[in-house]
Amino acid sequence: MVPGVRLLILGKQGAGKGTQCVRVARHYVVPHISTGDMFRAAGRMGTEFGLRAREFMDAGELVPDEVVIGVVRERINQDDTANRGFILDGFPRTTEQAEALWDMLAPRGIDLAIDLELPTEQALRRLASRRVCQVCQTNYSTENRPKHDWTCDNCGGEVVQRDDDREEAIRRRLEIYEASTEPLIAWYLERDKLVTIDAMGNPDEVFARLVRAVDRRRGVHG
Ligand code: AMP
Repeated sequence: MVPGVRLLILGKQGAGKGTQCVRVARHYVVPHISTGDMFRAAGRMGTEFGLRAREFMDAGELVPDEVVIGVVRERINQDDTANRGFILDGFPRTTEQAEALWDMLAPRGIDLAIDLELPTEQALRRLASRRVCQVCQTNYSTENRPKHDWTCDNCGGEVVQRDDDREEAIRRRLEIYEASTEPLIAWYLERDKLVTIDAMGNPDEVFARLVRAVDRRRGVHG
């Protein structure tokens, strides 16, 4: 078996990508690379790059391909990812990004693209109730609150609604997902790299399905 695992996750907003990626990263001991988290961190630091990215994010629009590709290229070439692998979250989101990633990772490429599949009305319900820690990005919801008010159980940070989880931005992000990102499902299927996971149910159930599928692909039986 090849050491490390190279994964990426697709799925509309609200499908549970962030929640599952945290678990996958822990399980396979690989870095969780989330382009959204990287842009949000840059925005909080107030760098020119971060503030510009935030304008796109708050409007629910995509950050331009060349910017995102540059950020991922830099991250993916670091030692930890080169040696252990990674789980990519929120990248690629366009065919151009998928092609750039394919070239970046040649010849080994990725092991698997995981499509977390969820009906849109379910995704909308989850997004409306989603809350996130401003500091460590842990996900909560109005049904799964932190133990004390809206203070993060992990780090004590403030738990809030993301600016781009408001109704207008959500609608726009789902439209963009359908137009730009959904075609990647067929793109990875054609290259025999796709597995589709049913994202209905609680996070433990979805995670169990996901690990089964990844291990099957890696040749681990059990
Ligand atoms: P996420 O946390 O993955 O939902 O990303 C939040 C926002 O960051 C997106 O709505 C985009 O504005 C931006 N973003 C994150 N990843 C990408 C990407 N791969 N391409 C373009 N924009 C991105």
